Amino acid sequence: MDRASTEPLRDGHGREIGSLRVSVTDRCNFRCQYCMPAEGLPWLQRAEVLTFEEIARLIAILAPMGVSDVRLTGGEPLARLDLPLLAGMLHGIDGVDDLSLTTNGYLLERHAAALVAAGIGRFNVSVDSLQRDRFFQLTRRDALAAVLRGLEALSAHPEAHPIKVNAVAIRGFTEEEVLPFARFAREHPYEVRFIEFMPLDADRSWSPSQVLTGKEIRAAIHAVYPLEPSPREPHATARVYRFADGRGQIGFINPVSEPFCADCNRIRLTADGRLRTCLFSLAETDLRAPLRTGASDTEIERIIRDAVWRKELKHHVNEPGFVQPARTMSAIGG
Ligand code: SAM
Ligand code: SF4
Repeated sequence: MDRASTEPLRDGHGREIGSLRVSVTDRCNFRCQYCMPAEGLPWLQRAEVLTFEEIARLIAILAPMGVSDVRLTGGEPLARLDLPLLAGMLHGIDGVDDLSLTTNGYLLERHAAALVAAGIGRFNVSVDSLQRDRFFQLTRRDALAAVLRGLEALSAHPEAHPIKVNAVAIRGFTEEEVLPFARFAREHPYEVRFIEFMPLDADRSWSPSQVLTGKEIRAAIHAVYPLEPSPREPHATARVYRFADGRGQIGFINPVSEPFCADCNRIRLTADGRLRTCLFSLAETDLRAPLRTGASDTEIERIIRDAVWRKELKHHVNEPGFVQPARTMSAIGG
């Protein structure tokens, strides 16, 4: 029988790939300023988007090569109908050990139980402000209360652990959120993480001066609630700190000020079936056409291995001549 091999998936720089982010839709019910324009984007047609069966087939090819960590994202993944069904299909694939979801949380209250039952173990919920009006300003949706209810619904399931709350850090906006988020992390069973603003916004208005760095945020928190570094896990993107008095922890994802490319073990699949080897890739590899024209698993494996071999050594965000990819974060699958 035609089967993909179990040889580890490696890039040309010696990095072993163990993690896949799957964008299940490019659509979203929010319009975060740093991600999408107010009017939305031209959405993919339904037929252009990979089916659950196509996604599951690709993951069944990747898992034996060591891609054991699969995260569902989007767009807004919960905007895709029947997402728990896909989660259940992926959970059942041999070699998928860690199935997780990144969501804006708006539909989480309704779906938390089904997602946990389907095998999603870890959740990242994006929350950029803890104040209703500022949340509205940034996401263009008056939805903070619904998102907080979603988080609460999730925390009723002890299997859903850890629950991470991610906030994009933007200079001129996030400073006011830093201490409230630190208190939130101390009072709830959530790990709050600040993510530096990256040049993947649809408005293309990003500039280096808008990046509020993890180091600055950490110093502001440390001055009020002393922090101690936690040991770093392999391939972890976040630098995690414990509150010195033992009440919770907080993390910093610093792709702009402290790139972690050397340790990157990720690839991404877009909703329309393109393989991307870096968030900032300028080229992508079409897997949908071979999937739909009868390619065998070994043929698809070869296409994937060739693309991954050419994975970018690093991103060039901090270099002159940096070119922002045509796709924005919502179309890549962040
Ligand atoms: N809609 C879901 C959500 O918001 O969690 C999943 C997709 S969203 C593109 C994934 C993550 O990317 C979110 O945490 C979001 O805040 C982050 N993101 C989007 N645009 C970004 C940007 N320009 N810089 C940094 N993070 C960004
Ligand atoms: Fe939607 Fe997530 Fe982008 Fe916000 S960050 S617009 S929730 S895809």
